[in-house]
Amino acid sequence: MATGPSTGRAALAGVSALGLLATVVPLGAHLAPLEAAAAPRKPAVVQTVTLGESVRGRPIYAYRLGEPADNGVPTVVLIGAMHGNEPRTRPALWSIKDGDPLVGAEVWVIPTYNPDGIAAGTRKNARGVDLNRNFPYRWADLDGNYESGPRPGSEPETRAVMRFLRRVQPDRILSFHQPLHGVDTDTKDRTYAERVARILRLPRKTFDCGGVCHGTMTGWFNHRFTGSALTVELGPKPGRRYLRTTFARRILKVIGAEPGDYAVRVAVRVAVRVAVRVAVRVAVRVADAQRPVKTGFSLATKAATAARWSSVAPVEFIICRSNSRASSVSCPAAYVTERRIAP
Ligand SMILES: [Zn+2]
Repeated sequence: MATGPSTGRAALAGVSALGLLATVVPLGAHLAPLEAAAAPRKPAVVQTVTLGESVRGRPIYAYRLGEPADNGVPTVVLIGAMHGNEPRTRPALWSIKDGDPLVGAEVWVIPTYNPDGIAAGTRKNARGVDLNRNFPYRWADLDGNYESGPRPGSEPETRAVMRFLRRVQPDRILSFHQPLHGVDTDTKDRTYAERVARILRLPRKTFDCGGVCHGTMTGWFNHRFTGSALTVELGPKPGRRYLRTTFARRILKVIGAEPGDYAVRVAVRVAVRVAVRVAVRVAVRVADAQRPVKTGFSLATKAATAARWSSVAPVEFIICRSNSRASSVSCPAAYVTERRIAP
């Protein structure tokens, strides 16, 4: 029968599959302790903060990475998905958040500014407000595509981000959007904007909202704070893989961050400082030991000096190793090479 061999093959396949399973299970069990013994990978995120909630009660998260700003490094904020229909602004930020620990900057990553918009696939939030027209700087009552809300800062998402930025006071903000493909170089810190465009390999552009930008986050921040905020527009559909690898690396470069262990970096810095101090001390001692002992004073000079000092203080005369220290009051003990009583 035609079914015979095929059933047999199926049965055989079943047996061999079982056999394979039987081999894999103990092998896996054997490997488990080895995996457990390997040091767990250190997470890049050192702190997760909930900035607030969206209209629909979705949390807005900010992740802190890198080393503390107290260490003299800049504070940088990276923001994605302010508009819910620009989802490709997020993969590079996720990749940075899930990547290696960083040094060189204190980095705050907000991958999803507008979680309700992302859930619905809309530019605006759940109340139909464009969050990038809702900030209290040059706010205007706009309708339609750029609905600005009933008043400046009316939306919970806007207020959450305002609170956060007031607290963190970043040196730089990169706000990622789509799909205009370019960096706004007509902005507060042009030199930095041009560097961003060059490193991210995006064209330099002017995003002036067709005249004046009303109620934008970057406008508000640039006006109120010393730091600078910059709009970075990706294309309509950049590849996910490119975003997660190449583009994420370029972002790190442009904000001055690099993979590294902060604790190790601090330890190295301290070790170098101590080594330099010890080396300097040793060099000074060696130079001191090699300096010839100064004994060139004539007896007349010695007598005159002693006589001068004898009227005020001790009559003991000291030969000091350094010619400028030939007196009983100013020669440190370590430099005394000979003691005499003045004649
Ligand atoms: Zn946008």
